[in-house]
Parts: sequence; C-alpha cells; structure tokens
Amino acid sequence: MLETRCHCGRVSIVVPKRPRVLTACNCSLCRRIQPLFAYYKAMSVEVHGGADDYEGYAWGRRVLRWHRCKSCGCFTHHEPQHRRPDGTSRLGVNLALVADSDRLARVAVNLRDGASDTWEVIDRYRVGMLPRH
Ligand SMILES: [Zn+2]
Repeated sequence: MLETRCHCGRVSIVVPKRPRVLTACNCSLCRRIQPLFAYYKAMSVEVHGGADDYEGYAWGRRVLRWHRCKSCGCFTHHEPQHRRPDGTSRLGVNLALVADSDRLARVAVNLRDGASDTWEVIDRYRVGMLPRH
C-alpha cells in the first residue's frame, strides 16, 4: 500500500501496491508539471477527497480527465473519459506526490514520447537517478 497526497492534504489517494514501473512523459502538460504515473484498476484505488476538493482538466483530444486539488493545485490523478468495453476503468495516479518518497527508490521509470503522440519509450531510468538527457 502506498499513499499519495497533494501539497495541502485535501486530496489523498491510496494505491494497493508499489508499482513495478512508473511512466514519465514529455507532452506539453507533463513537461510543465513533471508527474510520475502508475496505473491501477479504478476499483483498487481509494481516492479521499470529494467533488468539492478537486477539479478536472482535459486538453487536446480529451481522452483523459486530469484531476487537481482546488486548493493547492497539485495534479493527483487522471482517468479516461470513457470506460473500457468491459466496463472497467483504469486510473493513472501521480506517484510523484507519494507521502514517503523512499518507497519509490530505484523504481524503473519509462519516459514516453507523448510530445510526438507515439507514446514510445524514449528513455529509461530509475527514481532518484536523473534521466540521461
Ligand atoms: Zn491540495
């Protein structure tokens, strides 16, 4: 179990386990806010904070709805605008906000090329070690 928390604590999220891999991205939004996402089935994640506590943001093709704390502005998670055909949904949780950052030491990070929309992995590194470029 791992807990993430926005800066002011109004929104917190509990995920069931430490991820095997994190996703970083170079798209125009991630370039600015530097999140590290791990993906979980929505039903396995506890989001603490109600509709009043966070607000949504969607951009580009609007496939994802990003959620940020209304008070401190931290982006805590995102979710697809549409469920999968089997009715399940998957949340991307921003583990850059993890309460105890030691818990992510040396977890693998895949840097994906969101800027070009190919989403190919263009670099790999580990948490706590800078990307090579
Ligand atoms: Zn906050």
